[in-house]
Amino acid sequence: VTRFDASDWEEVVKAVGRSTEVSVACHVNPDGDALGSLLGTTLALRKAGKRAHASWGTDPLEVPEGYAFLPGAASIIQPRDVPPAETFLALDCGAEDRLGELQDVARRSDMVINIDHHPGNDNFGTLNVVVPSVSSTAELIAALIADVGIEVDGDIATCLYTGVVTDTGRFSYANTSPDALRLAADLVGRGVSPTLVASELWESSSFDYLKLLGRMLERATLCDEAGFVYSWITLDDLAATRVPIDSTEGLIDTLRSTRSADVAVMLKQQAGGTYRVSLRSKGPRSVGAIARAHGGGGHELAAGFTADDVQAAVEDIRRELTKSL
Ligand code: 5GP
Ligand code: MN
Repeated sequence: VTRFDASDWEEVVKAVGRSTEVSVACHVNPDGDALGSLLGTTLALRKAGKRAHASWGTDPLEVPEGYAFLPGAASIIQPRDVPPAETFLALDCGAEDRLGELQDVARRSDMVINIDHHPGNDNFGTLNVVVPSVSSTAELIAALIADVGIEVDGDIATCLYTGVVTDTGRFSYANTSPDALRLAADLVGRGVSPTLVASELWESSSFDYLKLLGRMLERATLCDEAGFVYSWITLDDLAATRVPIDSTEGLIDTLRSTRSADVAVMLKQQAGGTYRVSLRSKGPRSVGAIARAHGGGGHELAAGFTADDVQAAVEDIRRELTKSL
């Protein structure tokens, strides 16, 4: 069977089914869908008796604290320890460079399978399943696991559910489709505790994080004429509050909660000094094109790029968003 109108689907199912060793990677700065897909896939492959290596291309990588509860998280290895394999699975990577330090390992593998839901993915794999209409990469992985013939247990289900629930914004964004909800229902039937996952994801921040959130909110700025709100955090903020950078993914969700703006922009300073810029739109205005124009990418309503300077980036965004009003 072919699924999702993806012409390589059957080939992908066969290739994964016959592989005995697979290296699995998600994108750098992984979010819930990237990590849930990575670990759901890895656990399923291992269940089928295959050797599976899980990682992403940041050296050294550290599993974000908030996702350490995911089954299999402790088995994630450093990218330098990932071997080129007969099959290399790239998950949730909208472009090849999202593999970071693992690009080279992918190129030295016999076959690269690119499984993703970002529009604009350039099919960098040997085989490609790129389906922008699905809620999440986890939705594609659930179908893949089923077609390869592996039974989803409670641990695999928890990983995949985490992918769906985070990428749909707790079943609130425009990608909250009937299929996404049916998959979530099926996964809950297989042993996921939605309460436990929600409490790990959204009710487990440190008290220090609340203080960082306070700093971010204090300097939030509303650009009324362009209809967006922005704020930023610096390395100083992180040092002063003792919050690790990878625990800051949720800041933008608080920023976007105001009704005063339909676009939220969060700038976060990275080690080295540059800023990761995250863009979120409540629709219909797209932020994907802005990210792409600045060398980044993502979805139309959730995208990101890297910038050197807060004010210059904000001015660019202001100009673009004023045009789209
Ligand atoms: P976030 O703001 O959470 O980092 O990213 C939002 C979305 O945009 C995610 O789907 C993420 O994969 C994508 N994204 C973020 N930064 C980049 C980038 O630099 N390049 C590409 N291709 N996609 C990005
Ligand atoms: Mn995703």
